[in-house]
Amino acid sequence: MSQSTTVLFGLPGVRVQRVERDESGGRVVHVETAADTAAAGCPGCGVVSTSVKQNVITAPRDLPYGEGGISVVWHKTRWRCVEATCARVSFTEAIGEVPAGMRTTGRLRRAMGAAVGDACRSVAEVAGAFAVSWPTAHASFVEHADTLLTRPEPTRVLGIDETRRGKPRWVRDSDTGPWLRIDPYDTQCMLMRWAPGRWSDPSLRGRTRRA
Ligand SMILES: [Zn+2]
Repeated sequence: MSQSTTVLFGLPGVRVQRVERDESGGRVVHVETAADTAAAGCPGCGVVSTSVKQNVITAPRDLPYGEGGISVVWHKTRWRCVEATCARVSFTEAIGEVPAGMRTTGRLRRAMGAAVGDACRSVAEVAGAFAVSWPTAHASFVEHADTLLTRPEPTRVLGIDETRRGKPRWVRDSDTGPWLRIDPYDTQCMLMRWAPGRWSDPSLRGRTRRA
C-alpha cells in the first residue's frame, strides 16, 4: 500500500497495510504499527524489545470516514521483555492514539468529547452518531472536560440559607431516656453535624453578619 493511503488515513503511529471490503460492503482498513514509533518499548522498564512473542489483532473504533464509515483492524505485536530486572514478561504494542487497554482512537474520543462538551449534544445522541455505547461516549466527555477544567480556587466564604420544612417532632430515645428533638430539615442542625469542630468559627455562625 502506498504511503499516500497512510497519509490519507492520518492516524499517527500506524501505517496502512491494505483496505478491503467486508461481506456487507463496508471498508476495512488494515494497519500495522509504524516503524518510527516507540511502541516496542516495554511499559515496565522502557527498554525496546526485539523478541516477538506473537502477533495479535485488535479493532479499535475510529472516526467515521465518509457516509459508510470504516472499520479498523490493527495488526500488532506482543513482545517479550527480556530485561532480567523487569517484572513484565510481555507487552503489546501501544501508540499515543490507542494506549494500552483502549478500544477507541484518541481522535474519536476527542470528537465525542467536543460534541458533548462544546456543541452541547446529548451523550445518547453522540453515542448513536459515532456507533459506540453510552458509557464510552460519556467517558470521552469526562476526558475532554478534564483537559479543559482547572481546579477551582478554595472557598473563602460558605453561604448557607437557614431553612426549615415542617414542624419539629419530639421523641423519646427510650422509656427512661431524654426527649430528643427531631428536626431533619433544619439547616443549622445539619451544619452542626457536618462541621462540629468549626461551629465556633464566627464566620459560620454570623447568620446576619457580613463575612
Ligand atoms: Zn520490561
